[in-house]
Amino acid sequence: MSEFLTIPALNGLSWLFHGFGTRHFSENDLRAAAAEYGAGPVQLRQIHSARVLVLDEAPAGLPEADAAATRRPGLALVVKTADCLPLFLIDAERRAVAAVHAGWRGTARRIAVEAVESMTRAFGTGPASLLAALGPCIGGGCYEVGEDVAAPFRRDSHFAALFAAIPARPGKYFFDLRAANRAQLETTGVLPSNILEAGGCTHCDSRLLSFRRDRRSNLRLFNFIGIRAD
Ligand SMILES: [Zn+2]
Repeated sequence: MSEFLTIPALNGLSWLFHGFGTRHFSENDLRAAAAEYGAGPVQLRQIHSARVLVLDEAPAGLPEADAAATRRPGLALVVKTADCLPLFLIDAERRAVAAVHAGWRGTARRIAVEAVESMTRAFGTGPASLLAALGPCIGGGCYEVGEDVAAPFRRDSHFAALFAAIPARPGKYFFDLRAANRAQLETTGVLPSNILEAGGCTHCDSRLLSFRRDRRSNLRLFNFIGIRAD
């Protein structure tokens, strides 16, 4: 397989580039892939927040945030994951994009909603015209969590659909991170048919990286999206 996954429907947008890296896609590969589109990587210091940066140019240093959005060509917005969900938003009408890092904490803080609202404020994006692309993350059947993870979602109307109690293990649940973000996007007005997916479970697929499986905190998958400058 190639070193990163793409979503066929997005490959048809000639102004856009994107990819969800596998474990064989290094930081050097990322730089090379971005350069093919006249772009340079923009990385964030990810802190499991709901903070969204709107960028007019490449930032100095490594800003603390878990999402970035731009309309500027030449910026490859990067989110790093190893079980968390990488999520891209694409406004094809206004040619704007966002990259989002959504782990359980960011999801509890509703970062997907924040990202959509940031694009609406900054670019006039209408959620009904947004495309969303969900990359590989840990699957619901592999993501056992405790009450600490479940508690922030208790008031979410989708709670029962997102957390499956494990009868033999009281206080433990299987959490569907992808479904949680899909539900949040739909609440903003993103159409279900415009929510696209690539890849499966980071924990099951040995081509990917899983913090839970690999137990090495320094390993990350590089996921990127941007507007071509070439
Ligand atoms: Zn799995």
